[in-house]
Amino acid sequence: MHHTSLIATIVAGLGLAFVFGALANRLKLPVLVGYLLAGVIVGPFTPGYVADQELAPQLAEIGVILLMFGVGLHFSVKDLMAVRKIAIPGAVAQITAATLMGVGLAVALGWGWGPGVVFGLALSVASTVVLLRALQERRLIETDRGRIAVGWLIVEDLAMVLALVLLPALSGVLGGAAPAHASGGILGAFAMTIGKVVAFVAFMLIVGRRVIPWILHRIAHTGSRELFRLAVLAIALGVAFGSAALFGVSFALGAFFAGMIMAESELSHQAANETLPLRDAFAVLFFVSIGMLFDPMVLLREPLAVLATVAIIVLGKSVAAYFIVVAFKRPKSVALTISVSLAQIGEFSFILAGLGVSLKLLPPEGRDLILAGAILSILLNPLLFAWLDKAMVKVSAGEGPSEPVAAAAQPHAVLVGYGRVGKTVAEGLRNRTPLVVIEDEVERAAELRAAGYEVVHGNAVRPEVLMQAGLDKATHVFVAVPSPFEAARIIEQARAANPDARIIARAYTDADVELLGQMGATEALIGEQEIARGMLQRAPRRAPPPAPAH
Ligand code: AMP
Repeated sequence: MHHTSLIATIVAGLGLAFVFGALANRLKLPVLVGYLLAGVIVGPFTPGYVADQELAPQLAEIGVILLMFGVGLHFSVKDLMAVRKIAIPGAVAQITAATLMGVGLAVALGWGWGPGVVFGLALSVASTVVLLRALQERRLIETDRGRIAVGWLIVEDLAMVLALVLLPALSGVLGGAAPAHASGGILGAFAMTIGKVVAFVAFMLIVGRRVIPWILHRIAHTGSRELFRLAVLAIALGVAFGSAALFGVSFALGAFFAGMIMAESELSHQAANETLPLRDAFAVLFFVSIGMLFDPMVLLREPLAVLATVAIIVLGKSVAAYFIVVAFKRPKSVALTISVSLAQIGEFSFILAGLGVSLKLLPPEGRDLILAGAILSILLNPLLFAWLDKAMVKVSAGEGPSEPVAAAAQPHAVLVGYGRVGKTVAEGLRNRTPLVVIEDEVERAAELRAAGYEVVHGNAVRPEVLMQAGLDKATHVFVAVPSPFEAARIIEQARAANPDARIIARAYTDADVELLGQMGATEALIGEQEIARGMLQRAPRRAPPPAPAH
């Protein structure tokens, strides 16, 4: 059985994650909860099948690499520099605050301050995967708030890379096992670490920046999609692995830089799309592998300590982050988003906890608490975001509850989604009919309001959002969102609310047209066909006169 354990782990991980994810969705819980539960079930603390505990975390790491690569692709050096003024002091202050709280709890539990520092550091760094998933789901990555959150996270990651390298050297001072080979002392180790990170960044900016785009261009010119896809993957994984092996930088950081460099070439969007499906699959394995580490009994053994740990992660860190952002004179909406995004811990915390235990710096119960804190904070995070969505509507509507939509009381048109498609539709409809626009992204909703449109802010898939647009009075519903699955849910509900409205939807394939039609769309338009029609409209009107006969 041994030689098939990789396959068994992947199959069990993805299979159970799917089953429990679907179940969670059924119960209206975040699917993530299902993934974690699947992990607990294949983990060693529950009876029955136990997945390979060596392989699962490695598979999870691939997920982290691909995710950070994706972030790098959307993040330019300019973006990083633009947020450095808030991200660097913010992250440093937040790490300090969280570490102090951790020390406080550790001292109260009788471990002493040395272990407390390790414990506190582990509580201070948020999980990349959790944060990115949350931002992506809400389409926040490309917004101001999203950029600050990601920049902040990268600073935290850098600090943790530093902590991981320094911890062995500092172990003696903090009351753990003395370092095996004390070469050059603390300062030496510190300089060494900084030196490695600087060397890596310099190498990427000087060599990587030339070589990577060159390779991609060469491959793109071969015209082979398959080779291009492979090149992207090989570069992402290769740089991540190489940076870890050569420079001692984390996989995640290496992948981030690989992505950032690729983003400078025009091929980046294509590159991003090529890695999406793999990324999503491995991100699921990440959550399963966290679930596997969890011993549910700790909840019964030390309920108070678990509670205190969760409070530090979810409350302590958020409050600290909130005040730091507000102190930097950023709007409340930004402060709230940053607080909520970072109110969880994940992969780095486990690595730090593992190292702390192996250096005898952290008692094993410290690791159990960190794990419990991670699981519970990851579970709470979607709830916090849901609360944030609600709070955001108030903040962005200039405090107070959102105003009733006036146009909804008379015959009007509803437009869902104000992007590349919706924007043009809205402009065209403006003087023809009263209009209500539903838009999910806060910034866009605010932009719409400023331009004088009547707006409902929120995800139109949710019935309470959709119904605010007054569907019963709608004559037309234009569904201009990119996802056909979301469009299907929206149309189904719109049709149920109004049997007579004309519902026009955006589609990509014949299968979409059929699905959307079944859900009740009057008509679904395929982008490519509309382009073809547009081309024909620009074609010669009549056949050219026949050539004169001799
Ligand atoms: P585009 O693909 O450029 O046409 O952009 C689509 C627009 O629709 C974006 O502004 C999204 O924020 C918005 N959008 C996508 N899905 C939804 C949804 N379920 N509810 C409301 N707005 C959405």
